[in-house]
Amino acid sequence: MRTIEHWIGGTHTAGGSDRHGEVFDPAAGAPQARVALAGEADVDAAVRAAAAAFESWGQSSLSQRTGILFRFRELVLAREDDLAKIISSEHGKTLDDARGEVVRGREVVDFACGIASLLKGDYSDQVSGGVDTHTFRQPLGVAVGITPFNFPIMVPMWMHPVAIACGNTFVLKPSERDPGASDLVAQLWQQAGLPDGVFNVVHGDKVAVDALLDHPDVAAVSFVGSTPIARYVHERASASGKRVQALGGAKNHAVVMPDADLDYTADHLAASGYGSAGQRCMAISAVVVVGPAGDALVDKLRERTLTVKVGAGDEAGVEMGPVVTAAARDRIAGYIGAGADAGADVVIDGRGLTVAEHEGGFFVGPTLLDRVTPDMSVYTDEIFGPVLSVLRVPTLDAAIELVNANPYGNGTAVFTGSGEVARTFQRRVTVGMVGINVPIPVPMAYHSFGGWKDSIFGDHHMHGPEGVRFYTAAKAVTTRWPHVREESLAKFNFPTSS
Ligand code: NAD
Repeated sequence: MRTIEHWIGGTHTAGGSDRHGEVFDPAAGAPQARVALAGEADVDAAVRAAAAAFESWGQSSLSQRTGILFRFRELVLAREDDLAKIISSEHGKTLDDARGEVVRGREVVDFACGIASLLKGDYSDQVSGGVDTHTFRQPLGVAVGITPFNFPIMVPMWMHPVAIACGNTFVLKPSERDPGASDLVAQLWQQAGLPDGVFNVVHGDKVAVDALLDHPDVAAVSFVGSTPIARYVHERASASGKRVQALGGAKNHAVVMPDADLDYTADHLAASGYGSAGQRCMAISAVVVVGPAGDALVDKLRERTLTVKVGAGDEAGVEMGPVVTAAARDRIAGYIGAGADAGADVVIDGRGLTVAEHEGGFFVGPTLLDRVTPDMSVYTDEIFGPVLSVLRVPTLDAAIELVNANPYGNGTAVFTGSGEVARTFQRRVTVGMVGINVPIPVPMAYHSFGGWKDSIFGDHHMHGPEGVRFYTAAKAVTTRWPHVREESLAKFNFPTSS
């Protein structure tokens, strides 16, 4: 069986650890490859390669970096289908969805191609007599990315193109469940002319993550994953003085007002709840229906849910693939059962679904639960599967209260025909990304991505202007070129601006 190895200093290496993980084909339910799991020495080798490369990359010109970024962009474009095939085969999502992921990742490369403009500093002339001040931003050194399984290309690309464009070097630790695409990305960077050691990949689990978090030569850590691990990564890496941005899990609500177009709303809720088998951090999971629209919306959702075509991600016409592992399938089924036991109305039950010719696959059918209440685990917990839970509330105020009482604050949406409702909603919700009649409001690469509350630990969102700030440190230089005078102008009091 094929083994996916680390990529350190521009070359593949099996590393010194003899631990391996299994990479599954979720549609078949069978292992398709092995992945090396790094030990501390492998992590140290990757960080040392990155630190050595920073000596020159940190001094590279903006035009050199931009040239490489443009070439990398063209290579990602040319290999879009290959990248999508790897994602789909290891993650299970449909090929179209995987292509979309590659596009959204590549858009961050597009953004990073503008690094020369993004890193322009500020200049203030004559801040005092004969004194000027300018500010500029410099790279931090070795940056690390630790990423989840659900977007094996896009989430790492929220990080490394921006970090590298800013002059940092990078060590990526992708999810051990779908590590294959990162290997091709590493080779594309090399083909684009990136010097060896600027981009490295170590595969692994907690052992590798802890070694990265503790390594003294790592300056910054970007993490995306579940909330408990995000909190842990933030605490541990901050304790050793690193800059950290750690994005966590989510429970995303869609509020549906009585004046919403219910056909449009049901279509978009089904696509957002069941697309990628619900394994998106911005997927809608809780549908909060305001007032009398509940029965009509549930009827329409039921119709849409019944028509979702489930199958292997590489088969034409399939809209929803399997979930990533058997453990994920069983966990999701457990939540559906708990919802039923707690009194939710199971309108459509996706448990126990088998797909012809893929009987061993990790499938869960799209599931619709009605009359869910806020105390049920199917509502309180992130399920990360194709389950839509409908909750009913009497007013917009009650809906906003529900959204705001939830500890997560990643994404939310309101479906309405009223500008006033939309404005009230967008201003009052304590959530980082808000959609108005848009179910998955993921900002474009030139804005920044990130949630609030337990969906993030650390101050910076990813990519866009906040990404550039995260991967650079600001410096302010105050300059005076004095005339040669006989008498010293130095004063002992703290200077004022006049
Ligand atoms: P995860 O937290 O299990 O894993 C994320 C990363 O952390 C992986 O690289 C993994 O190897 C590592 N890891 C796992 N357990 C660890 C431990 N005990 N100690 C140290 N490192 C550990 O997440 P996942 O299951 O791969 O991804 C799904 C989660 O990611 C969901 O909660 C989803 O909401 C979240 N997510 C969030 C965003 C966002 O932008 N907020 C985006 C994508 C995914």
